[in-house]
Amino acid sequence: MNTPKIDNSVFKRLRFVLVETSSPGNIGAAARAIKTMGFGELVLVNPRFPDAVREEAAIAFASGAQDVLSGARVVATMEEALQDCNFAAAISARLREFSPPVVTPRAVAAQIASDAGLRAALVFGNERFGLPNELVQQCNVLINIPANPDYSSLNLAQAVQVLAYECRMAELGEGRQDSEIGFRGEMAGVAEIEGMFKHLEEALVAIEFLKPDSPKKLMPRLKRLFARTQLETEEVNILRGIARQILTPKQERKPKE
Ligand code: SAH
Repeated sequence: MNTPKIDNSVFKRLRFVLVETSSPGNIGAAARAIKTMGFGELVLVNPRFPDAVREEAAIAFASGAQDVLSGARVVATMEEALQDCNFAAAISARLREFSPPVVTPRAVAAQIASDAGLRAALVFGNERFGLPNELVQQCNVLINIPANPDYSSLNLAQAVQVLAYECRMAELGEGRQDSEIGFRGEMAGVAEIEGMFKHLEEALVAIEFLKPDSPKKLMPRLKRLFARTQLETEEVNILRGIARQILTPKQERKPKE
């Protein structure tokens, strides 16, 4: 009997997220860029025009990609945009002191394509302001397109095109890498990791390691440290367990089996 084959290719596991896009034309052009490379999932976080996908310029620039454009999900927060994702990449022309590891589009495309367990989001910023630091810090990696150092800021939809192309090429065989290094557990979701950081922060305040009125760069540094590790759900649970233990007075602690 023929069992239907589940399509677990990168085309079904990758979502393009545009944050606070100003120009409906760019949204349309991004839809086209995505579709030409075989992708279909577009999410808009707080676009300047809430009805951007029905704007004339968006429709014109989308050309034959009306289905991707009209199917775009419009949401109010990053949390909603990243729902069910366990890997998020911020795409930014700007490098920052506290960011997750910086990688090239090609390297990240190879990583996403070769790991069928990843449900990934590529997160693009606003045309003028790019992405805020808090959003970048929520991501596992920061993708920088190594452009002309004297003029490195691409048009938003063209940056989408570069990423979509690299991901397609990675899926079709080029640049595939074998990322299986023995046993790997379930990758932790972005929301799970955020929850863990809140918990950890609370515990660090409780033991007065973190001073709320002079936090320095402790949390951004810890986020950067963990962003390098590809946390698994089990590991997130261990770290939360440690935070819980710190926050529970000794006499109330249950003995650990
Ligand atoms: N002036 C903004 C750039 C906005 S360009 C800034 O300083 O960040 C709009 C978006 O396109 C960016 O947020 C980013 O997602 C993407 N982009 C443009 N050029 C890029 C590059 N060289 N590398 C990575 N992303 C780029």
